[in-house]
Amino acid sequence: MTRDDANATTKRPAHALNRSHTELAIDPVCGQVVDPTTVTSHRRYKGTTYHFCCRGCQSAFDARPEAYHAGRGNTPFA
Ligand SMILES: [Zn+2]
Repeated sequence: MTRDDANATTKRPAHALNRSHTELAIDPVCGQVVDPTTVTSHRRYKGTTYHFCCRGCQSAFDARPEAYHAGRGNTPFA
């Protein structure tokens, strides 16, 4: 579970880490890694902000948000 930490401390210069590793998100529909600062499709659902690679994925999420929200595996149900 420390894979990213190990990678960051042993291989990545601090500036590279800051630039390329911290802001990425996963498109919950297609599973693609997306950069929230460059994609234009976003949706906030039950306290979590999701980012989508395209409008098509956002539309799919809108159709069944519960399915994708639950599928993340770390749903913070109280
Ligand atoms: Zn997508």
